[in-house]
Amino acid sequence: MAEKIDLNDENSEKKGYNFVEQIVADDLAAGKNGGRLNTRFPPEPNGYLHIGHAKAFCMDFGVAEKFGGTCNLRFDDTNPVKEDVEYVDAIREDIHWMGFDWGNREYYASDYFPQLFDLAVRLIKEGKAYVDDQSSELIAEQKGTPTQPGVNSPYRDRTPEENLDLFIRMNEGEFAEGSRVLRAKIDMASPNMHFRDPIMYRIIKTPHHRTGTKWKVYPMYDFAHGQSDFFEGVTHSICTLEFEVHRPLYEYFVKELADDSYCPRQIEFNRLNLTHTVMSKRKLLQLVKEGLVSGWDDPRMPTLSGMRRRGFTPESIKSFIDKIGYTKYEALNSISLLEHAVREDLNKKATRVMAVMNPLKVVITNYPEGQTETVEMENNPEEPESGTHSMPFSREIYIEKDDFMENPPKKFFRLSPRNEVRLKGAYIIKCEEVVKDENGEIVELRCTYDPDTRSGLPGAARKVKGTLHWVSVPHAVDATARLYDRLFAVENPSAEEGDFRDMLNPESLKVVEGIKLEPYIAENARKGEKFQFQRIGYFTPDYDSTSEKLIFNRTIALKDSWEKEQKKN
Ligand code: ATP
Ligand code: MG
Repeated sequence: MAEKIDLNDENSEKKGYNFVEQIVADDLAAGKNGGRLNTRFPPEPNGYLHIGHAKAFCMDFGVAEKFGGTCNLRFDDTNPVKEDVEYVDAIREDIHWMGFDWGNREYYASDYFPQLFDLAVRLIKEGKAYVDDQSSELIAEQKGTPTQPGVNSPYRDRTPEENLDLFIRMNEGEFAEGSRVLRAKIDMASPNMHFRDPIMYRIIKTPHHRTGTKWKVYPMYDFAHGQSDFFEGVTHSICTLEFEVHRPLYEYFVKELADDSYCPRQIEFNRLNLTHTVMSKRKLLQLVKEGLVSGWDDPRMPTLSGMRRRGFTPESIKSFIDKIGYTKYEALNSISLLEHAVREDLNKKATRVMAVMNPLKVVITNYPEGQTETVEMENNPEEPESGTHSMPFSREIYIEKDDFMENPPKKFFRLSPRNEVRLKGAYIIKCEEVVKDENGEIVELRCTYDPDTRSGLPGAARKVKGTLHWVSVPHAVDATARLYDRLFAVENPSAEEGDFRDMLNPESLKVVEGIKLEPYIAENARKGEKFQFQRIGYFTPDYDSTSEKLIFNRTIALKDSWEKEQKKN
């Protein structure tokens, strides 16, 4: 829980509030809304939440927490065609995972359908709304342009009696979808396009996941949102910049309900946009439906469920969101910055272990056959409290193929013929012989070890240039690694011409079978566990992993190699 802010503290302006927090602080200090603070996060249950939504709800819940207010979770479920309870459940789980809770303040826009309907009826009776029999295409055409006024609908001057009769029959299912809408009668010449008789209700006959077939007319966002805020007593309705132009309409509708004592205030901030991905729920749904990813929680997706499965932590996501901040300017945020935050957090949390991705067998010829000893490995040098675990050492070990070169260049400090390296946590070995198969492929190295160089022995301090990770052959456990990379090859797929699906990164998933793990990893391969495979990257067990078939997701490589790789290509 964040510390509650003392509003009488005259230094509060110097406390580094972002502009939204500053508005809230000022409103509270001025005693607006009787000192009440109530925000809301209003997802539409038509997809899983992504990291952009997290930016929104970190603000909604975060500012409430910071200033001692409350935040509602409101499902904006006004379009039954696209919505589903699966999404409602996923949204709840993701917000909880990020560490926020809405207590008993879980609401649904569909709960307000009766009040909204009553308000629409009132507006019809007052001559402020009318039924239009034109198609939505025609209505859009008549809207005009920002510099040209719109054209009045031929149905604009229907009598309130006729409008009321038609609206009630629309809701009784008498008319086909798309054949009629209810519009607010405001001003077809308004400089704000949103005031040009906006649509309030449309006919939809698909059953709703909560209200079934009770309603055949459904309110549009602009009509439902502000009213829902009002019904809930929301004081600050925080949203993204694209709603700025809707604000006058938001206020227009709310004024139909509000008295002078209370009116919610809409505040807009910039969206989160990430490089190498897309944020549109429509596009993400398309990727899922067409099988271009394995599901909403595919570890390459920008969804919170995907990031969780991939091994990202809520803390790293929050830290990234803090870094990019809340402003009034649209920006494209670099995914490298997010990845940096993930590395920074996992560095503090992940258990250091050894795994060999591309194994090459090494036989230590002067080590006694059949002997095993254990070496103690630090779990996390960043976290001395985390202790150690033991790892078996024996006559045969695996090292990475890449860590050996027969004819190395000058600055190669790993293993090569007649050269020495240290096996991390164990002995110094020297390569004596290279064994090849009939194709000339290196299949084994024969080495000797210096028995005096293990930790605790007099030769422990002896320095050699390279240190390698390794796994004992008889103790190694096989596993599969899924190596994830950026979902899109291009930096900003939404800004490019052409089909976004053609811009997917073909290398975004590589599966490596037969990696070798030290036994400790296999013994601790629980869901959510975080490991650093030393010198390689951060890994976590995938949901598909079982004790018979271990599968690990690479959360992120130790270093950002993307820029370098791109230059090579
Ligand atoms: P849709 O096109 O379906 O409306 P949406 O992404 O806006 O998609 P909502 O469920 O309406 O989905 O979003 C809930 C809230 O999250 C809204 O207040 C919206 O402003 C905010 N939000 C959505 N995308 C982002 C983003 N990329 N960055 C910050 N906030 C976002
Ligand atoms: Mg939206």
